[in-house]
Amino acid sequence: MSDIVVTLPDGSELEVEEGSTVEDVAYEIGPGLGSDTKAGIVDGDLVDKVEPLYEDCELVIVTDQSDEYLRVLRHSAAHVFAQALQRLYPEAKLAIGPPTDEGFYYDITGVDLDAEDLEDIEAEMYDIIDADYDIERVERSREEAFDLYEDNEYKRDILETEAADEDPVSFYVQDDWQDLCQGPHVESTGKIGAVELLNIAAAYWRGDEDNETLTRVYGTAFESESDLENFLQRREEAKERDHRKLGQELDLFSIPDVTGPGLPLYHPNGKTVLRELEDFVDDLNDAEGYDFVETPHLFRTELWKKSGHYDNYVDDMFLLDVNDEEYGLKPMNCPGHATVFNQGNWSYRDLPVRYAENGKVYRKEQRGELSGLSRVWAFTIDDGHLFVKPESIEREVNVIMDQINEVLETFDLDYEVALATRPEKSVGSDEIWEQAESQLRDVLEASGMDYDIESGDGAFYGPKIDFAFEDALGRNWDGPTVQLDFNMPERFDLTYTGEDNEEHRPVMIHRALYGSYERFFMVLIEHFNGNFPTWLAPEQVRILPVSDDNIGYAKQLQNRYLGDFRVEIEDRSWTVGKKIQQAHDDRVPYMLVVGDNEQEAGTVSVRDRFENERKDVDVETFRDHLESEVGEKRIEPDFVEE
Ligand SMILES: [Zn+2]
Ligand SMILES: [Zn+2]
Repeated sequence: MSDIVVTLPDGSELEVEEGSTVEDVAYEIGPGLGSDTKAGIVDGDLVDKVEPLYEDCELVIVTDQSDEYLRVLRHSAAHVFAQALQRLYPEAKLAIGPPTDEGFYYDITGVDLDAEDLEDIEAEMYDIIDADYDIERVERSREEAFDLYEDNEYKRDILETEAADEDPVSFYVQDDWQDLCQGPHVESTGKIGAVELLNIAAAYWRGDEDNETLTRVYGTAFESESDLENFLQRREEAKERDHRKLGQELDLFSIPDVTGPGLPLYHPNGKTVLRELEDFVDDLNDAEGYDFVETPHLFRTELWKKSGHYDNYVDDMFLLDVNDEEYGLKPMNCPGHATVFNQGNWSYRDLPVRYAENGKVYRKEQRGELSGLSRVWAFTIDDGHLFVKPESIEREVNVIMDQINEVLETFDLDYEVALATRPEKSVGSDEIWEQAESQLRDVLEASGMDYDIESGDGAFYGPKIDFAFEDALGRNWDGPTVQLDFNMPERFDLTYTGEDNEEHRPVMIHRALYGSYERFFMVLIEHFNGNFPTWLAPEQVRILPVSDDNIGYAKQLQNRYLGDFRVEIEDRSWTVGKKIQQAHDDRVPYMLVVGDNEQEAGTVSVRDRFENERKDVDVETFRDHLESEVGEKRIEPDFVEE
């Protein structure tokens, strides 16, 4: 047998015999690591430690100290769920049960479950965990597998698709129960410290609406009871802050049935926040020499064929027929911007050309996947496309990374970066991809930032740097991105005249500082629990007249001193206490209480949403503070404690 080269996370290379398993390689590195090995990640895919390696690859060894071990454990918990379910309901039929970022699910059919049933199943799961059954990988012939699943069309479908090339196929067995499965798993059911079944939902087989509906049971699992408790507490907090709930309470947006699913309507309060967000990045873009363009929502599919979207993206596109000609709503803004660029004659002196557009796009997600603002059909990207000379890539990418840093810091969001490399479905030559990936790697190396490599997660037209930021609840979100594209310039035949008077190809950079406004807005609502920083708040100040006699004074303050801000007067004939309570509920950063004393002295009493109060304040002092707080985009109202 010949040798293969295994590249380890620190970049070192190890030559091992072809057919060595993940575990063999771990033992080669060191006997301690060998015996601690639970699984491996081969070129980005989580696999069992007994997986043989036949080709050069990147390998990460997974021990019970690795982050990925939780995924392994949760996959085992999905199996324990399925075993418990079939103990209690032998008629239940299993479809598919993978781990997820938050836990696991199993899609099942043949049984009607309600919340109370979940408690019984959970108790049975703990019996299985306490029994500490060994979890063993067993290989069976395809024939045997098909026999076993004579009555289960879902497992047969898996045998015919994902497992089509496998003979034998792998099963995982615990006690008298087994599941067709690639693994990996923990060694025994007792390794699962704590489980909780969370909820029941409906799902389509393969996520396809044309298929039958299955029951999806969600659960989660952890190594310890205390980890589970922490998770459940955070989940409860997240429910309190749910942007769908706050969106309604604060009158920010709605997604009514009548307008269609995944098509949000922004109310005046929501649009006020959005306009501030738009102005913020528009100003950043202005400062970096971007030109603003605008493109329509609909194009001939000819354009989408030219851009490659039609081949790679058509399932996600809304297509329509107009006078026997096919059109598509835009799923991305790039082809429009490339076409704008193509209308000009460019010399090397004109480059980089930088276009910005807050452009609405449409992507046909499965209806079952739609949720609030986090998954929608229509959303707006703070999109930017740069057309640059190859030698300016590094400078431009650096500027964009600085912009993204400024955006995330402004909202007090920590972040991590990752380099996402060539996916399976992609356009362009090997050479172009290698060149693009190495340039982004150079920028990241030069920045001194730590970064991850996400193998195969790049866009179909080029590699990218993705930013994942963490919100106040410790959840991670994607959004900002910088993508290099050597392919679209080819497809659109984009050129500029170089110093040598020859035609050259510019490189295209796609970038977004927020990502989508919808997703970013949703995260901000939950991150701040509706308590927007004053610069974003739909209503920044509410004036509360103590009695109707003070309304005139309130109007005077509003017009004469606070005209530059979003100020409302609470003129309902309520008690001051009730007015204060309402302003709190509406999450207004500042309240100005004005009674006879204030009116006579020409002052105000300032309250903030933390219930701090400062009396006898000169209005101009307050206004000057507000100006600096809003101007500097400070996170919390900080006048009273100043
Ligand atoms: Zn499995
Ligand atoms: Zn783009």
